[in-house]
Amino acid sequence: MADTLNSTATDWQQQLQQQLSDRRDANLYRRRITVDGPQGRLLHVEGKQYLSFCNNDYLGLANHPKIKAAAAQAIETDGFGGGASHLVCGHNHWHHLAEQKLAQLTGRDRVLLFSTGYMANLGAINALVGRGDFIFQDKLNHASLIDGALLSQAKFQRYRHNDLPHLERLLEKTPDTGRKLIVSDGVFSMDGDLPRLPELAKLAQQHNAILMVDDAHGFGTIGATGGGIAEQCNLNQQQLPVLVGTLGKAFGCFGAFVAGSETVIETLIQQARSYIYTTSMPPSTAAAIAQSVDLVMEQSWRRDKLQQLIARFRSGAQQLGLQLMDSNTPIQPILLGDEATAIAASEKLKAAGLWVTAIRPPTVPKGTSRLRITFSADHSEADIDRLLSALEKI
Ligand code: PMP
Repeated sequence: MADTLNSTATDWQQQLQQQLSDRRDANLYRRRITVDGPQGRLLHVEGKQYLSFCNNDYLGLANHPKIKAAAAQAIETDGFGGGASHLVCGHNHWHHLAEQKLAQLTGRDRVLLFSTGYMANLGAINALVGRGDFIFQDKLNHASLIDGALLSQAKFQRYRHNDLPHLERLLEKTPDTGRKLIVSDGVFSMDGDLPRLPELAKLAQQHNAILMVDDAHGFGTIGATGGGIAEQCNLNQQQLPVLVGTLGKAFGCFGAFVAGSETVIETLIQQARSYIYTTSMPPSTAAAIAQSVDLVMEQSWRRDKLQQLIARFRSGAQQLGLQLMDSNTPIQPILLGDEATAIAASEKLKAAGLWVTAIRPPTVPKGTSRLRITFSADHSEADIDRLLSALEKI
């Protein structure tokens, strides 16, 4: 009996090892690094210092003294652990304050904090639709949105990237027997481009569908006060009823939120399993978020500077003949094609002291491996010029 168990265990371990080695052979193996010190324009890895173009700290807030102080003070007054889930007794006054500030930023009735963006998307989709309903998503949506739809038991269809006539055809073929949910990224995380949001909102209204936008990369970076694509396109709560943002990117913190009407938020509190069945985030994180929202709204110079850096990079890269994508956001990918080329380019930049990540399938479609360059308001013009000159050399 023991032998049979052992041999079964060995078989599955061998299968897994084979999968890992196939992944390595295909240049798709993912490697993790251990970083020393804070995130910012400089990255410290294995005793070396690199100029970093790979984090999502778009506004340079991850290491802001006011945010650090807010967290430290809340640890003093409220301890560290959340202690319980929100609906038991883990909902602290700092969570409440962060939600109120985010409601102000988003211009929505109410906001609900989640521990991560992944959980917010899983929770929101599954609270809003289920068996007998219909979900429509852009092909390039983030993995957490796709996973949320797969979990929901609703009929799930994907439309070609930003192809709204395709979406319209799918909607026209759908019976009126269940709820319809249209979901899009607000800024596409690997391409940096935007959805055609006003038209999406119009389509949703025409077909009586719920529109949900995950603006993980847009909040903080676009819109006059950092309100993301909803602010930029001036879409109110009726036109865009379910708005998701994450707090680990431009806000420099951790966590995520869903913003919407009283009805939407109460529905999530009652039904979003990734909200109900998990420990609340540490109150100090919520205190840091509340502080960060103030900085995001007040310090528009960070967005202005970011835009100047992006423009400088794009014009320099165009002069070099690099293949850029249709993006004016801090996500500026350079398309290289196959996996080996993308890895080699990333390694050469690393040798020159620059950290730029290669992104490969399945995160992006096959044949579209790329360098994913991200900018932060902490970068200087000289940093951009150094990147451009390194790109020219490779
Ligand atoms: N949505 C999008 C579009 C994202 O890019 C990410 C993070 N990569 C998430 C959701 C997940 O957010 P979090 O890291 O907070 O889980």
